[in-house]
Amino acid sequence: MSCVFCRLVAGEIPTTRVYEDAEVLAFRDISPQAPTHVLIVPKRHLDSLHELDDPALAGALLSAAAHVARLEKLEQGWRLIANSRAHAGQEVPHLHLHVLGGRPLGRMLPSAK
Ligand code: AMP
Repeated sequence: MSCVFCRLVAGEIPTTRVYEDAEVLAFRDISPQAPTHVLIVPKRHLDSLHELDDPALAGALLSAAAHVARLEKLEQGWRLIANSRAHAGQEVPHLHLHVLGGRPLGRMLPSAK
């Protein structure tokens, strides 16, 4: 098994697990970009969000993100990011959502004003 996140799901690589259910695993990013930086992955391998065609799994991933934000007490706000494929700079080719919070994150998109 060569995929690093598959190996992490299988317990072959150590990580700090934050949340887990039958479909998804949430664990702390090894190089955190904010006080809270948690990755959420499906347990079955999909290369990126581009390949996701399963509404139940999509719901499980999104629900896990909100659950993690509550566990991490991110009441002041948080951001969900999915880098998908090369132009987004995806580094690990296993679908993952980044949950970032614990500090002001700035605006990512131009204001509509
Ligand atoms: P992306 O650029 O969206 O593909 O993000 C990949 C993320 O995976 C980066 O934030 C890395 O720091 C993180 N990462 C890579 N290897 C590990 C690992 N073994 N455990 C936790 N996070 C990892």
